[in-house]
Amino acid sequence: MVQISVFNTLGQLVGPFEVPRLELSESEWQARLTPEQFQILRSKGTERPFCGTLLDNKLPGVYSCAGCQLPLFSSDAKFHSGTGWPSFFQSIAPGNVAMYADQSHGMRRVEICCARCDGHLGHVFEDGPRPTGLRFCLNSESLNFTPSDRLAELADPVAEQAPEASASRSTAVLAGGCFWCTEVAFEQLKGVMDVQSGYTGGEARTANYRQVCDGNTRHAEAIRITFDPSRISYDELLDVFFDAHDPTQLNRQGNDVGTQYRSAIFYATEEERAAAQAKIEKLQSSGKFTRPIVTTLEPLTDFYPAEEYHQDYARLNPDQPYIAYHAMPKACQIREKYPDLIQ
Ligand SMILES: [Zn+2]
Repeated sequence: MVQISVFNTLGQLVGPFEVPRLELSESEWQARLTPEQFQILRSKGTERPFCGTLLDNKLPGVYSCAGCQLPLFSSDAKFHSGTGWPSFFQSIAPGNVAMYADQSHGMRRVEICCARCDGHLGHVFEDGPRPTGLRFCLNSESLNFTPSDRLAELADPVAEQAPEASASRSTAVLAGGCFWCTEVAFEQLKGVMDVQSGYTGGEARTANYRQVCDGNTRHAEAIRITFDPSRISYDELLDVFFDAHDPTQLNRQGNDVGTQYRSAIFYATEEERAAAQAKIEKLQSSGKFTRPIVTTLEPLTDFYPAEEYHQDYARLNPDQPYIAYHAMPKACQIREKYPDLIQ
């Protein structure tokens, strides 16, 4: 299943909705696509630079997947990169463009694909303009363009499911040391729709990685988990939380030292506070931890998403030593301990 945003019959972008991936056979794709589109989308091809039909398109509108019509990029985020391929600094909705580590051709790159049909689009690089610093580098052949006055033509039947699809959704904010590590541990759980790395506990003006690293901002590195409470409960998320880090270490996790790495549960409601308190008391009396649990319970104020390059960091950088030695083994332990909670 994937979480995608789509246009409705009024030409408004709505969602996200949880839908199954679109899977077609090779011959079905051949029937649906031109040979040029097939070469890019299904065979991971690259068109020659400065040849694409959408490179110099400056009209306002939306670029959608040539394979399944999923909206992918808005003209608002298009910029002139000089590379010879259409370039954007962000996708139209975070769930619509999937990213994968790509080590082909002896290079370490991040491949981008349509989240719904897995069609290859191009790559994303970290040399883009503000505000994201990213450059989504696209093949024209993977895209269709729809001018902004005709967006209703992109209306997707998925949008009609809106009330049901978006009804069951809740969030939890937890801090258990480095957010690269906790994010990847929770992303693999069933019912978890999204995990965002960020900062909470401090002020807006200091909610950036450089200042949080100083340890004087009161912020904690935290994750915001968006989940479907009918598939996974807050209590189950707390179980995983207390296994995904060491709650007996005060203001540190291993070599990561400072209040920004404190163990904390940021509760949004009295129910969450009571559930967290009960969980800590139960774990403490169970003898699972020989030292006292020092996890703090703090009221949730604002959650500030971290810089784009921190999002999905572990999944996109599995070979980075810190990830390989700390984050991945922990995510693996969670998988083994909670097989029933894995997607
Ligand atoms: Zn697609």
